[in-house]
Amino acid sequence: MKVVRLYMNNRLRNFNYIIGCEKTGQAIALDPLDGDAVLAAAEAEGWQIKLIINTHEHHDHIEGNPVVQAVTGAPIWASEYAVGKIPNVAKGLVANEVIELGSMVFKVLPTPGHTPVHVCLLTLSEEIPVLFSGDTLFNACAGNCFNGGNVDEMYETFQQVLAPLPDNAILYPGHDYMKTNLEFSLVCEPGNQDAQLWQGHVKNLSPEDMPFMTLGQERLYNPFLRLESPQLLAKLEASGDMSTSSRAVFKALRLRRDHW
Ligand SMILES: [Zn+2]
Repeated sequence: MKVVRLYMNNRLRNFNYIIGCEKTGQAIALDPLDGDAVLAAAEAEGWQIKLIINTHEHHDHIEGNPVVQAVTGAPIWASEYAVGKIPNVAKGLVANEVIELGSMVFKVLPTPGHTPVHVCLLTLSEEIPVLFSGDTLFNACAGNCFNGGNVDEMYETFQQVLAPLPDNAILYPGHDYMKTNLEFSLVCEPGNQDAQLWQGHVKNLSPEDMPFMTLGQERLYNPFLRLESPQLLAKLEASGDMSTSSRAVFKALRLRRDHW
């Protein structure tokens, strides 16, 4: 498997991914926004796009579907709950469904929260697992829940689906928000040395050059994965959020991030 990451250079800072099997040249267009750019990238690799997969229904994750489909004829797959919300979905993906293309194998992880229909893809075929997280997990943050989402569902997704994933899994998120999110990490935990380190490392990088982080690294500086951090809890308490449960901490964090 080889992944081409395209930065969209738009206000929302989307990443588009083309995921190719190097043995067969078959590829998946994940969340295409700029269909022409996705097609050009696939052609440059000598790949044929056989599948279009959308993590969720937001326009910036599906807008390139028609262009990619018109040229490649690839069917559109998304969550079973996205049928009717995303035009022309040919197959509704169910929980833990296995997708095979060439030598690549993925598992479908339902991850509601950002929207009710959101899914992530986890590779099963790679020695080091890769998580395509859409707008569920970003570098140093969780996706927002104010555009059709539900923060309680997002909390459950983090606890039930993301928490069991191994430290060595590599994160491929749907947007380039790392620099801004690390600033928020440091508001939550001013003394977090990993957040400081990575902020220093990425501050002068262009979006195209942003590093691919592991879940283990995320667990060192992403406040939404650090609900028991004493400094984070003290910070919340000091500002009036007397949080007694990890759910309450998660929700207080998400609310603060919304208004930050
Ligand atoms: Zn979204």
